[in-house]
Amino acid sequence: MDRLWFDPAKVLIGGRWLVPDGGGTLPLEDPSTGAEIGAIARGTPADIDAAVAAAEAARAGDWGRMTAVDRGRVLTRMGQLVAERVDDLAVIEATDVGKPLKQARADAVALARYLEFYGGAADKVMGETIPYLDGYTVYTLREPHGVTGHIVPWNYPMQIIGRSVGAALAMGNAAVLKPAEEACLTALAFAALAAEAGLPPGALNVVPGLGEEAGAALAAHPGVHHVSFTGSVGVGIAVQAAAARNVVPVTLELGGKSPQVVFDDADLDKALPFLVNAGIQNAGQTCSAASRILVQRARLDEVVARMADRYAALRVGPALDDLDVGPVISARQKEIVEGFLALGSDLTVAARGQVVAGAPAGGHYVAPTLFADVRPGHRLAQEEIFGPAQVVIPFEDEAEAVAIANGTCYGLVAGVWTENASRAMRMARAVRTGQVFLNNYGAGGGVELPFGGIGKSGHGREKGFEALYGFSVLKTVAAHHG
Ligand code: NAD
Repeated sequence: MDRLWFDPAKVLIGGRWLVPDGGGTLPLEDPSTGAEIGAIARGTPADIDAAVAAAEAARAGDWGRMTAVDRGRVLTRMGQLVAERVDDLAVIEATDVGKPLKQARADAVALARYLEFYGGAADKVMGETIPYLDGYTVYTLREPHGVTGHIVPWNYPMQIIGRSVGAALAMGNAAVLKPAEEACLTALAFAALAAEAGLPPGALNVVPGLGEEAGAALAAHPGVHHVSFTGSVGVGIAVQAAAARNVVPVTLELGGKSPQVVFDDADLDKALPFLVNAGIQNAGQTCSAASRILVQRARLDEVVARMADRYAALRVGPALDDLDVGPVISARQKEIVEGFLALGSDLTVAARGQVVAGAPAGGHYVAPTLFADVRPGHRLAQEEIFGPAQVVIPFEDEAEAVAIANGTCYGLVAGVWTENASRAMRMARAVRTGQVFLNNYGAGGGVELPFGGIGKSGHGREKGFEALYGFSVLKTVAAHHG
């Protein structure tokens, strides 16, 4: 890769690009070919120590003294630099993650938009005055936590960095970012652009490395005052347990088994692109993937047939060829997904997409698969596959739709398709998820829309203005003046 403006084998600590403690590296793989194309830094607990100290120093220095207006200006400038490099960032991300170029480009555009949004919001978070006893004036202040830790996964690095690091910096925190070992390049690219935009040294530190080394050290670090974790349920539990020892707050953005519910009066022409795309986008490696399609019995055959037509036309191939679906992230992920697909041997496969002829043999390609007429208790209807597969589940009436929609351990996102406005409103109340989309799914990404889960999908909210409350702490000041 010749477009990089940073050294991926280094960590960024206190504004300096350093060889990690011990000089270790990890292989950098292109999932489209399976080839090793370079090396990334293997940050260690000692690097995390240094990064936390640098963040603390930034809080005590220029960054901590900067006004909210100026913080907002720096973030806005960061967004502008990201916007200028969208095409480069897209190629880097497509090569690193394996996502089709148009998706990688959309992620870069979203990162720029997050920075624009949080840049504009930085000076608009206000406290309040509280009427109180005679002789008192009481008011609240929204203050940064201090040092925030950000542990992010490989599936949408730029979007997740935008929504968590962007909001944390807007509130004046200093951040330590641990990107995923499978895909850390855009985290480093972003940090280099942030420095160029005038973000003071130490306000953002990036330490790539293994989860069980650098990640675990960050989650457990006593100098970290808030942890934002996005990833799997098991690791989320470990991160929360580690942070609990320091009694610091944690935001967990975990997995999902999100439904789109199609009633018999749905506008199918409108719904169909969303039904399929929300399952196969990013090769299904999306926390809010609509991996369950619930269909009212009267329209079941029609929905399955129309979705199957789309599936049969899906083309899977190298990220830079920009087809419908790219490879999954790794050989291990391919094995996991294929293991899940094998669990469907008792089910009807309505259609499969095609891996294009000539796709590199070493690439981690999985043909998208649509399963028809699946019972809600089947493992494929309960567990997060995190690959390009969807199950269609029939239901009879609204009550059953709600029961099935709420019948997993997750609660991230739901979509409802109906032309009956009253039913849509009832469903929005009845489903147990952090977001509900009525007659759409995803609302185009929704930088402005608070996002997060309930149940095993996690807790806390990122995105939108709401995230600024999560990345700050409320202080009450009661003045007695007689
Ligand atoms: P993962 O949990 O394996 O890894 C996520 C991050 O945690 C990586 O940076 C990893 O290095 C780090 N990590 C691993 N072990 C750790 C440990 N012991 N201590 C601290 N950090 C550790 O998840 P993944 O496989 O990379 O991502 C897939 C999962 O993420 C899916 O379940 C998906 O649904 C979820 N996800 C959720 C959202 C959301 O917003 N809710 C978004 C994207 C992905």
